[in-house]
Amino acid sequence: MTELSKVLRETSPGALSFWCPGCRDSNTIRHGSGPGPRWGWNGNTEHPTFTPSVLARTGHYVPGHENGSCWCTYYQEHPDEPRDFACGICHTFVTDGHIQYLSDCTHELAGQTVPMVAFPEDW
Ligand SMILES: [Zn+2]
Ligand SMILES: [Zn+2]
Repeated sequence: MTELSKVLRETSPGALSFWCPGCRDSNTIRHGSGPGPRWGWNGNTEHPTFTPSVLARTGHYVPGHENGSCWCTYYQEHPDEPRDFACGICHTFVTDGHIQYLSDCTHELAGQTVPMVAFPEDW
């Protein structure tokens, strides 16, 4: 793992991670050449721009997910567990060091644009 800047890390060759304050988790895109979808990156580590948009789905929002086993059902069965995870959609444009959350996000930052933030200390 290489810390490229406060807001950007290279978690493996070609894999760039940034902290998503909406998901409270890291989002990762891949750039350069190689298998799988690849994003454009402007090469700026402080104020990155990625193209096209970044779409992350978790839990029952993942296409092909089998109903009946996701965070929703887990917390239904374990109501006393702290809710650190949630099923969701996170759809963002990262432009010039800002994260624009599209309206299809399931978290509270949907429709907002926020500056990229540093990774938490313990990440
Ligand atoms: Zn997110
Ligand atoms: Zn769910």
